[in-house]
Amino acid sequence: MSLNCSDLCPLWPCEDKKEYKGVWVVGEVSEKGLHEASLQMLTPALKVSKKLRSEVVGVLIGYNVKKYADEFIKHGASKVIVVDDKALSTYYPMLYGDVIVELAKRFKPELILIAATMRGREMAPYIANTLKTGITADCTDFDVDEKTGDVLQIRPPFGAMLLAHIKTPSRRPQVSTARPNVFPVPPRDDSRSGEIIEVKVNVRKPRMKLISVKKIKKEEVPIEKAEVIVSGGKGIGSKEGFKVLEELANLLGGVVAGSRKAVDAGWIPRERQVGQTGKSVKPILYIAVGISGAAQHMFGVREAGVIVAINKDENAPIFRQADYGIVSDYREVLPKLIEYINSLKKEPRLLKELIE
Ligand SMILES: Cc1cc2nc3c(=O)[nH]c(=O)nc-3n(C[C@H](O)[C@H](O)[C@H](O)COP(=O)(O)OP(=O)(O)OC[C@H]3O[C@@H](n4cnc5c(N)ncnc54)[C@H](O)[C@@H]3O)c2cc1C
Repeated sequence: MSLNCSDLCPLWPCEDKKEYKGVWVVGEVSEKGLHEASLQMLTPALKVSKKLRSEVVGVLIGYNVKKYADEFIKHGASKVIVVDDKALSTYYPMLYGDVIVELAKRFKPELILIAATMRGREMAPYIANTLKTGITADCTDFDVDEKTGDVLQIRPPFGAMLLAHIKTPSRRPQVSTARPNVFPVPPRDDSRSGEIIEVKVNVRKPRMKLISVKKIKKEEVPIEKAEVIVSGGKGIGSKEGFKVLEELANLLGGVVAGSRKAVDAGWIPRERQVGQTGKSVKPILYIAVGISGAAQHMFGVREAGVIVAINKDENAPIFRQADYGIVSDYREVLPKLIEYINSLKKEPRLLKELIE
């Protein structure tokens, strides 16, 4: 028996897919400017748009945001839709989400890509739900089903060594997110030009009110921006044990991170977790100490330059993926490494070479 999609889901009838064209990347602008993660989403957008023979469109909403449109174009977008309105000067997830929904109804894109930042994670499900369409979060790759034109939204399922290919077969637009640093920013080309479309949207009154903003003190560089990371796992054994990792990280101008087991044990804060349910990082040097190398952890270091593993078990899986491995108890090797690096301080050139 063959069922059509309206039998399966009478409330969400099938869309005429042919009416939908274009791959959108929603830009996130804060007081720091256009978020790099939004530009990173142009990489999968360009790949998918090539296969769909459509164009990449940047979407910028907020107040005083038009000035960022050119960034989108220089990095590969053909057009940018801009809604620049004082009523959008404060970010409210539903307010911003409603503007995207209205634009999507008007322009009918086939795919909306949103970086899975804090804001993206709030807005994307709201947008998909309001448009009564599917969403795939935390994609790691994209492709296109040549027969149907559906986008294959590829991501690892929870806890398995597989890659799921997820489709939204009957509804449009398709909505997907990817985490920051999973894709690189496409190269900038200053010779590129494109169209900027300014749109007026009726912005409704927000149903919430921002009363005050309290900035969280961040003394350290966030791990996703660090060039050197010394990362500890369950093998460190205690919070106390992380002190020597901190010492090594300070010497190398880096930061400390860790595996989920180290986070669950309360030895390091959750925002320093590397991996599938933590953060993706792209340091020049990643030193993994007392970490076994589970797939969910290694997922977060795919973009790392050189990986050095220190583990007392010579059969630890991490040695299969590390560029350099030291089979030893970290309590023996790290003090020696610190002593050696301290001796190089008199020769800063050698220390720089060691990191690079
Ligand atoms: C859905 C899902 C999502 C997940 N997401 C993440 C994630 O985002 N990030 C993540 O890290 N994990 C994640 N995990 C957990 C992951 O599967 C592993 O359990 C975890 O990464 C293991 O952490 P570990 O390597 O610190 O600990 P273990 O696997 O216990 O390894 C400890 C290692 O330390 C070594 N060791 C012990 N003592 C010493 C010593 N003195 N000196 C040197 N080496 C020593 C041991 O030989 C061992 O290899 C996820 C799991 C699931 C199911």
